[in-house]
Order: sequence, then C-alpha cells, then structure tokens
Amino acid sequence: MRQALSRLAAFAFLRKSAYICAFFQQHLARRYIYNEDTLSYEAVSIPIGAQLRRLLAYTLLGVALSTAAVYLFSYFFETPRSILLHRQNDELQLKYAFLMQRFRQTDATLTELLLRDNKVYRSVFEADIIPLSVREAGMNGAGRYEQLLAAPQTKVVAEASLLMDKITKKAYVQSKSFDEVSGYAHQKEQMMLCIPSIQPLNIAHRRVRISALYGPRIDPVYHVPRFHDGIDFAGPMGTPIYATGDGVVTTASYNLHGYGNLVFVDHGFGYRTRYAHLSEIKVQRGQKVKRGQPVGLMGNTGKSTGPHLHYEVLHRQHAVNPINFFGNDVSAEEFNKIIEALSGKTEGLATDY
Ligand SMILES: [Zn+2]
Repeated sequence: MRQALSRLAAFAFLRKSAYICAFFQQHLARRYIYNEDTLSYEAVSIPIGAQLRRLLAYTLLGVALSTAAVYLFSYFFETPRSILLHRQNDELQLKYAFLMQRFRQTDATLTELLLRDNKVYRSVFEADIIPLSVREAGMNGAGRYEQLLAAPQTKVVAEASLLMDKITKKAYVQSKSFDEVSGYAHQKEQMMLCIPSIQPLNIAHRRVRISALYGPRIDPVYHVPRFHDGIDFAGPMGTPIYATGDGVVTTASYNLHGYGNLVFVDHGFGYRTRYAHLSEIKVQRGQKVKRGQPVGLMGNTGKSTGPHLHYEVLHRQHAVNPINFFGNDVSAEEFNKIIEALSGKTEGLATDY
C-alpha cells in the first residue's frame, strides 16, 4: 500500500515537472510574432542568453512578491511560532514578577530581624549595635549591573540580581552578628559575675552614708558648677572598700590629679570601676579580684574634704550613674529612702570634686 502511494506521488511529481518544463518551453524558449503576410502568429525561438535573463527576471520577481507577501502577512497576523514565543515571554515576565515579590518579602523579613537583633539581642548583651548603613554597606554598587539595567529586556534580571546581592550581604552580616551574640550568651554567666552590681562598701554601717550623687553640682572645693561623675560615700576612716564585680586591677597607686590613692578595676564587657581617696590600697596592679573582695580602706587622700570614697562606674570610657548598678544588695524601696534621707543632709559631709 505504502509502495503504491509513493509510486503515485512520484508519478504526480513527474507530471508536475513535465508541466513546468512545458510552461517554460512555451513562455521562455519561444515567443509568437504576428505575421502580417500570413495573418497568423508564428513561433520564433529565443536565444539561450535571453532565455536565461528572462528566467532570472521571473525568479527575482517571484522572490520579491513572496517576500512582500510574507512580510505583510506577519505584519497583520501572528504566526503560531510567534504566538508561542509571546506566550512564553509573558509567562517568564510573570514568574520574574513573582520572584521579585518573594525577594522583597525576604528582604523585609531580614530587615525586621536586623532591627530585632539591634534592639533586643545586642542590647541585652551590651554589644554595640550594628547600624543599617553598615549592614547594607557596599550595596549601592549598581555599577556592576549598569548595562543590564539600561536595557529593557535585561532590566528585570538585573533588578533581581541586585536585590539578591543585597539580601546576601545583609544575611552575612546578620549571621556574623548572631555568632557574636551567641558568644555573649555563652559568656553570660561570666558577664553576670563581672558587671559591677553591688555597693562598694557596707551601706548598713550606721556611720556610712552617701554624701554626693552623680550629676551636676557646685564643686565643694572650687565652688564652681561641675559635673560629678561618681557617687561619694562618707564614713569612718579605714572602712573596707570592696570590688563591685570580678575583674583585673589596672591601677593601684597614688594619683596626682586629685584622686589620691586610687584603684581602677577592669571588669571586661566594657565596664570599669574607680575607687578614689583610699587611705590604704589592698591590691596590686594586674591582680585578679572577685566581687566583694576588699581593694582598700576609706581615706582622705587627694582632693578631698574628709574621709570618703569616690566611686565611679565607666561603660565604654563614659562615666555612668552608679546608682543603676546597685542591684544585688539594695531594693528600690531602700534606695529611695537613701535618696530621700540624702536630700539637704549632705552639708558638712566629706566629698570631693
Ligand atoms: Zn566624688
């Protein structure tokens, strides 16, 4: 059956070829000229060169006409292939839009996480916050994608890549921050031992009292306004003074700038405490001390108007109010009592600058 069909096709092809040959024979190889003598058309053979020229002219005309037809057709109608391509293009655009939306959501979630990291985790552990500018640093480098961004067909790809870069950088900084925070969490126990959190002397001693608070005041020696960056405790000479947290003694000597016999303890985690005007120093430079360990005795050395202790807490080089660190041994109520009792009753009590 198949053979018969192919034979039929071959026959049809041959017939068609024969027809085309005959057509050419008729239209190209000869032409008809009217003979006025015989009053009839007579066939005249055309030379082969002219025949070829004619054939070429027909072919060119055919090509031009069919090109024009195809162009016109594709201008007004879409071919199945172009319809398919358009559809695929639309699908891709949609997928990219969806992807960009996912990227933006991820970026927003990450930003939330960064803010929480700064506000909560890093604050809890007294770590410096990492500003958003640092977390996103180097992310304005759109230069790499400049050419892609300029071309409309690649813009969407460049935008997605740019956003992905930003997310990657943020996530990297965040993961570093979490490493740091988790380190702090492991050190938390150590941190609790080190951060100053008791009073430097036994406030229950009936002759010990606070003689000057942290804050602005009139200097008792020079009588000019001056900020007092510690707390003064007045009391009997020789009252034991204690380290308020674990740490290392960094100074244990006489200070020429008014502090007299001075002990400085570095507690780590950015905290240091200063104990001034001591009559006697009980520790040495470089010595490790525990919370509650005596570092010296109350005295009247340096710029002082009587036996007292000048106590300072420093956090990252800045003096902070030591009241906020008296947590372990005094309740808020007790402390309010101390403050109330203090108002107007520090006259005549020993203080410094
Ligand atoms: Zn003082």
